[in-house]
Amino acid sequence: MAIDTPATILIIGAGPLGLETALYARYLGYDVIACEAGDVGSHVKQWEHVEMFSPFSMNASPLGIAAIESHDPNHQFPSNQQCTTGGQWLQQYLIPLSQTDLVKKHIRTNCQVLSVSRTWKQKTDLDKDSGEATREQDPFRIIVDEQGTQHALTADVVIDTSGVLANPNPIGAGGVPAPGEQQVGQGISYSIPSPEDLIQFRDKQVAVVGSGHSAATALLMLTEAKAMVTWITRQTNEHAISPIEQDPLPLRSQIAAQLKELVDRNAIQTLTNVAIDQIRSSDNAEIELGIYQADAEDELTREWHSFDHVIGLTGYRPDLSIFRELQIHQCYATEGPIKLAASLLNQSSHDCLKVEQGDGELLINPEPNFYVLGMKSYGRMSGFLFQTGLQQIVQLFQILGDRETLDVYTTFQKPQDG
Ligand SMILES: Cc1cc2nc3c(=O)[nH]c(=O)nc-3n(C[C@H](O)[C@H](O)[C@H](O)COP(=O)(O)OP(=O)(O)OC[C@H]3O[C@@H](n4cnc5c(N)ncnc54)[C@H](O)[C@@H]3O)c2cc1C
Repeated sequence: MAIDTPATILIIGAGPLGLETALYARYLGYDVIACEAGDVGSHVKQWEHVEMFSPFSMNASPLGIAAIESHDPNHQFPSNQQCTTGGQWLQQYLIPLSQTDLVKKHIRTNCQVLSVSRTWKQKTDLDKDSGEATREQDPFRIIVDEQGTQHALTADVVIDTSGVLANPNPIGAGGVPAPGEQQVGQGISYSIPSPEDLIQFRDKQVAVVGSGHSAATALLMLTEAKAMVTWITRQTNEHAISPIEQDPLPLRSQIAAQLKELVDRNAIQTLTNVAIDQIRSSDNAEIELGIYQADAEDELTREWHSFDHVIGLTGYRPDLSIFRELQIHQCYATEGPIKLAASLLNQSSHDCLKVEQGDGELLINPEPNFYVLGMKSYGRMSGFLFQTGLQQIVQLFQILGDRETLDVYTTFQKPQDG
């Protein structure tokens, strides 16, 4: 059923996808409340010093550009080909977008969503043909902590774009915190090191755990900063991140190639095929990892390894507690909404550019008018691209407006430069 304007849409998070969703909804005349736990784009701020592998042309929507230009005709955007840092993306695109007339008044910062439920119905209430009001007719009740005070909001539609970066995976074997992991305090961190961290890590023994692009980026930065680096992975070979053949995003392949070169000339030590069994601090403030390692014959050894600091970059997981009282069907493997997760798991490509979003049907949950978009829609899977999120927005408003051909972006599409 179409959701007619001016229905109220509540968006969880004013990150890249929350902002774009808010703008799109406002452009179509919906009333919007975008609740952001911190400041606009606060997850992107965490990796502001990291260079993006997708060029700016893939990191902005035509509607976003038009809104910023109409707000400030002299605004300077990065060039289409430029791979900006996260910080440049924030300063030159995301923050200006949040300041535009259509969305500015609708964003509430320092407003963390604690829970989303229905107002009268409970999770166990199923829609039956009994003449009772349906779940769809029962407004959402959203509890927020706004500037330290808790209160409730209501909405007709809720879109969760809260991302996953606030919930890094632990580094212990099996994906649970290893005994001691939560006790060692600051000796372990779970994000790409900041420039200040890198200065402190010079000449220190630093271990990086993980085998994705964030781990690779951290390994390169640490080597450059003259730390003594060990790469710990449960993968069986020491080239766990290999370049994608004829990669259309050259920066991504460059990272993999540089890492391979550093491993080949032993500038980075590797510990492969391992499981982290136990973690403790030593008397001289080192972090000690009790590690099981399997050799080529699958013989297990267990040894302690000491480091000045350990960085866990083993991915992220979605916070499912926000919508626990709703009827959301999650994938047992990825914890993403089941339909999209099943489609993603069926695709074999490891290149996120080749992953197909599929049709809008995949965004529909058992809970009417509740949607998960952006990085959180991939659950624990990596490989989400902002560009995919823009496709999700178009599909979502086709569903909400019950208009198959609605695509606001085509109205604002401009020819690409250079
Ligand atoms: C190092 C790194 C490099 C990357 N490079 C690229 C790249 O080159 N190209 C690309 O397309 N993608 C890249 N990505 C992925 C990128 O993060 C996403 O494309 C994009 O940021 C996803 O936006 P999002 O809005 O879904 O999530 P997020 O950016 O995580 O935003 C979520 C927002 O929700 C807020 N929030 C969380 N919980 C709550 C709550 N309970 N209540 C209210 N607000 C809440 C957060 O504070 C945050 O502002 C990269 C990611 C990382 C970590």
